[in-house]
Amino acid sequence: MRVDGGAHDAPGNTRTPRNTGAPDQVAVVGGGMVGLCVAWFLQERGVRVTVFDRDSLTTGPDPAGSGSSWGNAGWLTPGLATPLPEPAVLRYGLRVLWRSDSPVYVPPVADPGLARFVAGFVRHSTHRRWQASMRALAPLTTTALEAFDLLAAGGVSAPTRAAAPFLAGYRERADLDALLRELEEVRAAGQPVDAEILDPLAARDLEPLLGEQVRHVAQVHGQRFCEPGRYVAALVDAVRERGGLVHERTAVEAVHTSASGVEVHGVQVRGVQVRGGEVRGGEVRGVHLLDGPGAGTGDGAGGHVSGGSLDVSTSDATGGRAVGEPGADRHTGGGHAGGGRFDAVVLATGAWLPRLARTFGVRVPVQAGRGYSFHVATPEPPSGPIYFPAARVACTPVGDGLRIAGMMEFRRPDAPSDPRRIQAVVEASRGLLAGVDLEVRTHEWVGPRPCTPDGLPLIGRTSSPRVFVAGGHGMWGVTLGPVTGRLLADAVVTGTPAAALTPFDPLR
Ligand SMILES: Cc1cc2nc3c(=O)[nH]c(=O)nc-3n(C[C@H](O)[C@H](O)[C@H](O)COP(=O)(O)OP(=O)(O)OC[C@H]3O[C@@H](n4cnc5c(N)ncnc54)[C@H](O)[C@@H]3O)c2cc1C
Repeated sequence: MRVDGGAHDAPGNTRTPRNTGAPDQVAVVGGGMVGLCVAWFLQERGVRVTVFDRDSLTTGPDPAGSGSSWGNAGWLTPGLATPLPEPAVLRYGLRVLWRSDSPVYVPPVADPGLARFVAGFVRHSTHRRWQASMRALAPLTTTALEAFDLLAAGGVSAPTRAAAPFLAGYRERADLDALLRELEEVRAAGQPVDAEILDPLAARDLEPLLGEQVRHVAQVHGQRFCEPGRYVAALVDAVRERGGLVHERTAVEAVHTSASGVEVHGVQVRGVQVRGGEVRGGEVRGVHLLDGPGAGTGDGAGGHVSGGSLDVSTSDATGGRAVGEPGADRHTGGGHAGGGRFDAVVLATGAWLPRLARTFGVRVPVQAGRGYSFHVATPEPPSGPIYFPAARVACTPVGDGLRIAGMMEFRRPDAPSDPRRIQAVVEASRGLLAGVDLEVRTHEWVGPRPCTPDGLPLIGRTSSPRVFVAGGHGMWGVTLGPVTGRLLADAVVTGTPAAALTPFDPLR
């Protein structure tokens, strides 16, 4: 049976011709910004998609999802999307790296994976490499906002807003000059970006939330922002409305390829805590074949795992029985064909990428650079995003208040949230914001940025022609999610990656 993949033609979107061997059914593992954008653009090209995520993807009063796509700053800022490894981060970072109140924190633990990541990061933190990485990113950043417009024209309902104004505030003039120099380099790499220096009084007229310690202000033009949790939820809706399946609370444990297709194995977890991918409170006894459109139909041999709040259904993998129990997934919109394995799979599991991708030759480490955020009330709704680069604090209007985000904590993605990091963001923000009470916080959140040592994402085919990777965008996976989805979907259906993807080869 053929399900209409919902291939709407968005205005301005030239459909990429499918090659004759193009996959018909593709699994996407990971339902964060990147995985969902890949799924949406695959649908755009006539592919039937099934998305698996170990967590719940729908936002309630608190950000959902254990990945980084929910409580982040939501900036859609191609003009600022620069590679993380750079001499300044290194100079600054090495001084304060192990201090628990530092905005860049590396725990003093014996972790060979972390050591390898840090060594690679240091190696790439030269000016020359930063420039080369910036040039590599430019084809993505220059088309990043256009890809958001395609999503909007294709029915993704969550808005993106012009960041007018987008203000960067400083205590010291030298720090503002450093931003202006960096923007010159961004322009030289091919990404246009305009900025102007504002008189601090005029800046306060634009944004009364600027605190008394902010003495120097720049306004960056042409950027946007969104409420990322809402945006991800709208993508889930859009993928489902176009006939895609989205299996929440379904953790993929293994991917097997053969000449005829791809098998995706995993466990379904119901009504429980799967924070950061750790199944807590019990033992998982079975691994299922998650056979795409058939999964989630309630056919599994249900079994309870004792000792906690987990319900995990189990069956053996050999029968290809569907995983799950009735109601475990919320399938809305679109009918579905049953049966069959997948023709290809895209791994988009954020900071957990190496777990599944390593088998397919992906050796680049992906390290969680964990960021924290919280909300504060403001006397008036903020006018736009505010950036305090020297303090490494990012603020975004959310509802009628402000989301304040910061920290780069290189730690396991699943580690519990550390209140000292929230406190570090609070201390870094003091004096920079007016009229907000930093002691009255809601929606405290931590999320793992998927960071690579060279600051470049991993987008493309692995050692298997049926297995693709999309991730490792570090600080910029929201901004670059849609353009990544667009380019990777083209590569999957045509079998030929665009030249722009060469620097992001997952096998580099
Ligand atoms: C504080 C903070 C502020 C940020 N601000 C910005 C910003 O302003 N602009 C910007 O562009 N970017 C920003 N980022 C970065 C951005 O959030 C990330 O780059 C982006 O969300 C990464 O998306 P992703 O889909 O690759 O990963 P994730 O969002 O982490 O999604 C990965 C998903 O895979 C799932 N998963 C993992 N393993 C499995 C498995 N085995 N089976 C099934 N599912 C699995 C996880 O549950 C998760 O939902 C910020 C990040 C942080 C932390």
